[in-house]
Amino acid sequence: MLFYHLAETVSMESPPKGRPPSTLTQDAERNKLLAEMAEQSTDMISRHTPDDWRFIYASPAVENLLGYTVDEIVGVSAYELYHPDDVEDFKRRAPSVSYERGTYTHTYRFRCKDGHYTWLESTSRSLRDPETGELKEMLVVSRDASRRINAEMTNRRLAKVLESSSDLVAFVDLDERVSNLNEAARVRLETGESNSAILLADLFFSESDQRMIQEAMAKAREIGDWQGEVDMCTMSGDKIPVILEVQAHRTYDDRIEYFSIVARDMSLQKAIEAERQQYQDEVSRASRIMTMGEMASGLAHELNQPLTAIVNYVSGIERRLNKQDQIETAILKKPLKKISATALRAGEIIHRMMDFARKGQPQRKAIELSQLVDDVIGFCADNASRQQVRIENRIQYPELQVEADRIQLEQVLLNLFLNAIEATSQSVKGEPEVIWVDVAEAEHQQVIIRVHDQGPGLPVSDDSQLFEQFFTTKEHGLGMGLAISRSLIEAHGGHLWAENASEGGAVFSFSLNRSEGGGR
Ligand code: ADP
Repeated sequence: MLFYHLAETVSMESPPKGRPPSTLTQDAERNKLLAEMAEQSTDMISRHTPDDWRFIYASPAVENLLGYTVDEIVGVSAYELYHPDDVEDFKRRAPSVSYERGTYTHTYRFRCKDGHYTWLESTSRSLRDPETGELKEMLVVSRDASRRINAEMTNRRLAKVLESSSDLVAFVDLDERVSNLNEAARVRLETGESNSAILLADLFFSESDQRMIQEAMAKAREIGDWQGEVDMCTMSGDKIPVILEVQAHRTYDDRIEYFSIVARDMSLQKAIEAERQQYQDEVSRASRIMTMGEMASGLAHELNQPLTAIVNYVSGIERRLNKQDQIETAILKKPLKKISATALRAGEIIHRMMDFARKGQPQRKAIELSQLVDDVIGFCADNASRQQVRIENRIQYPELQVEADRIQLEQVLLNLFLNAIEATSQSVKGEPEVIWVDVAEAEHQQVIIRVHDQGPGLPVSDDSQLFEQFFTTKEHGLGMGLAISRSLIEAHGGHLWAENASEGGAVFSFSLNRSEGGGR
């Protein structure tokens, strides 16, 4: 019966009139063959009425494709099963399917028996009565297109995400020509719409960046990908700092087909970071100058002493000259030597002050901790003795080295010492009080440096308050010293905290990285 339907359909295309009987037999054979092929095809072959596209025939593949049996689908209008969104579109196209010669292929959604829609790709052809030219029916071959459509949809979505990503994305050919750029890359690199003549190397700033991308490509060829920081450049020559990922993409037979480059523009972060660093440097310098202000009288005293000594030596020489016209040069040698040594010492004090107030890039290197603590103790010794306080270095490891910027470390210690001196001077016991520095063991290659005092202890129970900017309990305090000290220590990868000692007084501790190969 079904064979008959299809055979009938095809026969309408080949006019039987006036043909010799042998040709008719051949036609019948061919039709039978076609009918058999239709029955076995995994594509669904169907015939429809030309007006409302009712199924006149469907091959058994309908069951696999749509879930209906042949008997269920025959008699149903295809319009009932189109996706509502496609119906209009379909109706609009229908005339061209019906009345044009040849075939027409389109893709649309069709409702399966279980209610879900599947994508079909159908090729339709009109069949006419050869005698009258009247449109008789439509012959359609349909196949499942859902996999292709879904893959296309996924690709379209991925392409859209890539195109609208804020990262700069480029595809690069094997000869290192840029074949595609997404919108962010076109805009940021100022390439305009055409990528034609762009060589990968042209997108990188300096010669060393260009060398780096060559190495990156070589690494990607070798191990699949490369990540790193590098500077790209716009067509007008501006620098763009980026974090870059290069990936080599391979074919199924493992040949590299192309490279992808994804660059995250770090300009904004770098600018913020630079601004933050500059701010910190400024604040830190201001704080050093403030600290110097606090110590000015002590420093004046320190300078006064060598200057007075020099004046004394010179007056001694003058006195001798006044007494006798002739003087042996050997007698002058000793005082002159002393004058020069003392002047050098005064010069050193001035240099130390200038160093401390200097504005410069922090430089981290291995520093002998105990030596530096001695220096800072010397720096504020006058201040301490005026307050009847002594600072002791109780670090037992003279060769212990830490990795730090000398000036910043001096600044932190100075802040802690000056606070400790101030706190300790408040406790009136009559005898000189002691502040001491020692180091404790720490994990992960770090050391903990502690400043102990004999003051009243912390003014608040929550020590984090002390480190807030502008927190102060002093009448003329600024409340910046501890905040700056903490940020300096954290910039070194350490921590700074405070606690009360069980025997009274406060302990301020901070951790620093031990320098490799240095002591202990
Ligand atoms: P400032 O010294 O200008 O007040 P800091 O940030 O150095 O600013 O200190 C903040 C506050 O922490 C001080 O006002 C004081 O209350 C407290 N503090 C700091 N060091 C000590 C200490 N050794 N003992 C007790 N309190 C301290």
